[in-house]
Amino acid sequence: MIEVLRMGHRPSRDKRITTHVGLVARAFGAEKIYIPGNDTKMKETLDRVVRIFGGDFQVDVSSGIKKILHQHRGIVVHLTMYGTSLPDGITRIRTEHEEEDILVIVGAKKVPRYIYERADLNISVGNQPHSEVAALALFLDRISNGDWMDMDFGGKLKIVPDDRNKNVIEKN
Ligand code: SAM
Repeated sequence: MIEVLRMGHRPSRDKRITTHVGLVARAFGAEKIYIPGNDTKMKETLDRVVRIFGGDFQVDVSSGIKKILHQHRGIVVHLTMYGTSLPDGITRIRTEHEEEDILVIVGAKKVPRYIYERADLNISVGNQPHSEVAALALFLDRISNGDWMDMDFGGKLKIVPDDRNKNVIEKN
């Protein structure tokens, strides 16, 4: 099981990027996102996507960081441009932490030092600064070997791939 912790979300500044972090987490196979800070509008936005497009993705905006870290029973992976390389990180998860649940942390503003120390692995997706959305997407793709592409969410709306038209099946 993979869960994501979005750290440092500022409702006024990060609304759009945090929404995208949540959408990527869901679409690429994570089961839950924590967005500490009680941004209930953010929860409504992401919950609406789940209602329409399906799946059991959970959005928690009420738990605090300490509680989330304390309750987590698997490994903590922090995505940062300073970390060990993505291929090495994935290999280490597969060899040293097989079958363990993963809490993936991505930041918004500067991530505090204790997260680097608390993480079992600090993993970089390249060593250039880019985006938490890109870093999360690539990590989830690699850790799942691309299996997220075959997920069936069983939603009310299902999009059928089509190179010309919008092909959407709507369940009643
Ligand atoms: N200014 C922030 C700082 O000093 O930490 C960085 C903000 S960055 C846009 C937001 C998040 O994107 C980071 O906390 C990290 O999770 C992720 N990120 C950005 N570049 C990354 C990279 N090359 N590898 C892994 N994660 C990255």
